[in-house]
Amino acid sequence: MANCNSTKSDELFARAKEHIPGGVNSPVRAFLSVGGTPRFIARAEGQYMYDEDGNCYLDYIGSWGPMLLGHNHPLVAAEVVKAANYGLSFGAATKREVDMAELICDTVPWVEMVRMVNSGTEAVMSAVRAARGFTGRDKVLKFEGCYHGHADCMLVKAGSGALTTGVPDSAGVPEGCARDTLTAVYNDADSVERLLRENEGQVACIIVEPVAANMGVVLPKEGFLKRLRGLADEHGALLIFDEVITGFRLSLQGAAGYFGVRPDLVTYGKIIGGGMPVGAFGGRRDVMQVIAPVGSVYQAGTLSGNPIAMAAGLATLRWLKKHPEIYTETDRLGKILREGIAELGEKYRVPLAVNGVGSLLSVFFTEGPVTDCASARKADTEKFAKYFHGLLDRGIYIGPSQFEAMFLSAAHTDEDIAQTLEAVEEVFKIIG
Ligand SMILES: *Cc1c(COP(=O)(O)O)cnc(C)c1O
Repeated sequence: MANCNSTKSDELFARAKEHIPGGVNSPVRAFLSVGGTPRFIARAEGQYMYDEDGNCYLDYIGSWGPMLLGHNHPLVAAEVVKAANYGLSFGAATKREVDMAELICDTVPWVEMVRMVNSGTEAVMSAVRAARGFTGRDKVLKFEGCYHGHADCMLVKAGSGALTTGVPDSAGVPEGCARDTLTAVYNDADSVERLLRENEGQVACIIVEPVAANMGVVLPKEGFLKRLRGLADEHGALLIFDEVITGFRLSLQGAAGYFGVRPDLVTYGKIIGGGMPVGAFGGRRDVMQVIAPVGSVYQAGTLSGNPIAMAAGLATLRWLKKHPEIYTETDRLGKILREGIAELGEKYRVPLAVNGVGSLLSVFFTEGPVTDCASARKADTEKFAKYFHGLLDRGIYIGPSQFEAMFLSAAHTDEDIAQTLEAVEEVFKIIG
């Protein structure tokens, strides 16, 4: 097989483990649940990534979401280089931040004001603080298996790496923090209603991934998001859509636009930075005006709105606005991939639940259906590990965890999908 040589990655991983916990700067990268050596990536272009040993991979991670245009898109790269010529950071207001705020607010009508931060984690942490400040309430309601970054109050029954590494309830989170986090069952609005009743007048916000993509991809059932909107209104809580993955990916107006349900606040990350460390939160003007220096909820950042990061994000969002056909195109390719994998599953008797929408998909090794965290956890993670390594050896790079999404980009082609399905077939022949 083509991609078996990992000599340099092996060496680097050994060195990394000496001075970086687990050898990585974010847990899922460590290949913990699939075993083996994480590949150290040297460069990436379009739909491809190249590791230090010179192996080439057809990439379905896309840096976990940001690279919707494909890696190292020439327009984005050029804007970054241009911006770098004028200085890397000023700690003062810049024109690009105004352009960015206007672009987001013009594109997404329910975002009347927005503030830039440096990561999705920070966006969620700040949005939740704003919701608490606005409502004068302490509790937040989230869903089991949803991931909202690693702020203390969000690491209760969390998804993504927390789910993969088996610590959905992180150590180091004070009991007082965890006590104010209520967890409901995804796609079960009755579980939300029950919690809101039991905590009447205390819940500041309901926060949800409008398409869950951190316990693998789980779609909202018909009416689920709308019901959350109604319940939030009825109980005086704000509705926050965490669109760090879905924002500008499902549509220019994210999942909220796609499903036609308006949140009070929304969080962004990943795509809006075009590969640079960026997040944002925004929404209703009256809520956003609780933020300092206008209001009394403190929120700040030395590097927030950084000129290089804004240049990358602006170039990315402008490209997307100019090329809305990317959404129908990735949707088309995603559908071919989903249906192809499901058919192969039947052919080789591999029990599968294939979930997806637009450019997001997940292959769960379980009969399914997968509609929430409990049904996602029924997946056979050992089988997934074999599937993962089978694909990696064949030059197909997917997330090293059963509970992560596959991400398509504008760079992927029909030939790539065909090549991927061939690799999946070879692997299913072995593991079926
Ligand atoms: C990735 C992610 C976050 C956290 O963003 P970081 O930039 O990794 O801090 C928050 N929410 C969702 C839905 C995410 O997928």
